[in-house]
Amino acid sequence: MKLVCDNVYVVKPYDPHADDCCVYMIDTKSEDGLVLIDVGLNIEPIQVIEKEGFYLKDIKHCLITHGHLDHFGACFKLKKFNANINFYAHELDADQIEQKPTGQYIEQYYGDYKYQPVKLAKRIKSDNEILKFGKSQFQCIHIPGHTPGSVAYLLEIRKKKILFGGDLPGVVLNFRGDNLEEYLKSMQKLLHFNIDILCEGHEDIIEPAKKVKKFIKKYMNLNEMLNLFLEEPNNMEILLDLTFISCELEFFDNALDFCNYLLEIEPDNVNGQELLKKILKQNPQKIDWIKSLINESIKKEK
Ligand SMILES: [Zn+2]
Repeated sequence: MKLVCDNVYVVKPYDPHADDCCVYMIDTKSEDGLVLIDVGLNIEPIQVIEKEGFYLKDIKHCLITHGHLDHFGACFKLKKFNANINFYAHELDADQIEQKPTGQYIEQYYGDYKYQPVKLAKRIKSDNEILKFGKSQFQCIHIPGHTPGSVAYLLEIRKKKILFGGDLPGVVLNFRGDNLEEYLKSMQKLLHFNIDILCEGHEDIIEPAKKVKKFIKKYMNLNEMLNLFLEEPNNMEILLDLTFISCELEFFDNALDFCNYLLEIEPDNVNGQELLKKILKQNPQKIDWIKSLINESIKKEK
């Protein structure tokens, strides 16, 4: 179990092949016991804490970043170790957790998952609400966009600002009912906090502050470009930008997908040909994500 800084641990680290999120733990060294940030889909990886001298029964609070099953699916499994555990999430995502989660992503990825709803101890209602456990204060920053009730939890330890971001880099698509404008506003809001350490839901830990800012800005750019492109799926300039940004973010699968699509429409595009050579060196797999997105958005328009 990796230590992020005093009493903050990575319980479930980033795994590019896993279908659930990273999990973090804070030891409050008080009667409030251990606090988890998200829990993921499976309880087994959480059990690692018992090898490090902690007990599952001491997890007294679980802060959920947003209402996507890969972040809260195993809540009901946590209850088996401590029936009195308290769950927290924003009121706008609460139904997903307290009832049966719904949405296209459920059918697509988690159709077989047997979820049992849990009751929240508290619905977070206002922006910047504080949750206090022992001496640890978590500022709940409402960041709608990826979901309406996305929350990032900010913790300050020895003047270092640690942010548990959930899915900051998540794909935000207007045509699916996501709200790009809100997402961009939320990310802009986060940039003002000058975060020192970003503990991400599906990425490695990002630090220092300069890198965190760059990371957030890149994903803002990527999501903006992606939405622009889906409005004009033949705009080669935007498509080329998307390919560039994906390379920078080391999303080589997506980069290849964008680049192949570009060369399918314009086989003689010299920039596209040059990029393709670079991308192929990274050994990516062929995917058809962009085509499926275009088809999906065209169907929505009809
Ligand atoms: Zn998500």
